[in-house]
Amino acid sequence: MKDLQVSYGPVNAVQGVSFGAEKGKVTVVLGANGAGKTTSLRAVAGFHKPRGGTASLDGKSILGAPAHRVVRQGMSLVPEGRKIFFPLTVEENLRIGGYAAPRGSHDTAIDGIYDQFPILRDRREMPAGLLSGGEQQMLAFGRAMMSQPRVMLMDEPSMGLAPTMVDRVMSSVRAIADTGIAILMVEQNADASLEIADSVVVVNRGRTVWSGPATEARENTAIVHAVLGETALDG
Ligand code: ATP
Repeated sequence: MKDLQVSYGPVNAVQGVSFGAEKGKVTVVLGANGAGKTTSLRAVAGFHKPRGGTASLDGKSILGAPAHRVVRQGMSLVPEGRKIFFPLTVEENLRIGGYAAPRGSHDTAIDGIYDQFPILRDRREMPAGLLSGGEQQMLAFGRAMMSQPRVMLMDEPSMGLAPTMVDRVMSSVRAIADTGIAILMVEQNADASLEIADSVVVVNRGRTVWSGPATEARENTAIVHAVLGETALDG
């Protein structure tokens, strides 16, 4: 995605964000509250009409396409706050994620997701609202995997989780990438996300201000401190 621009009426929320995702790799998008991370992800996923920029998936232009078409082209969004359907069972939540995939593929996809997250198999008949926060995040990953995406966009998967659960969720993100999926993950938890990231994009006030390998962001902490504050990394 290059030079994305998105406005809410007179508010220019995103004024030049660029990022990419690579097969089997985790790219983390870091930035303070209000930097424009969520707006950028939602625009590329087809939920906001952009004002400018380009985005392509495997060489095909996708910017401005509606969300269901973006999903069919191989990219799915794990939204901020998980957006699980609490009264529905775990398995019903997963089936909803398959809405854009051929019906015959659902059972195989569900089995693959249960193999990846065995806790979801144990809880398959349980209302999703009874799961812990970390389990709900795994369900949100699983739901997005039902369409067998090549690219997954993840919006703050660590939000609101206890520190031990954050580590488990980040390990799951790494494991999903290791299956060959390209991951683009927005995070505010720089420490935890840099542990598992391959590349980093830093967004500030609606613009990409730095991008490079995660090793460089870990070593050159000034980059992260400049946008997230001095306490963003433990050391
Ligand atoms: P956070 O980490 O808090 O989610 P973010 O980096 O994801 O922050 P966005 O949520 O994309 O940032 O917000 C970018 C800017 O757009 C902010 O100035 C925000 O106030 C503004 N904004 C977001 N949603 C709307 C909306 N629906 N209407 C008007 N302005 C909005």
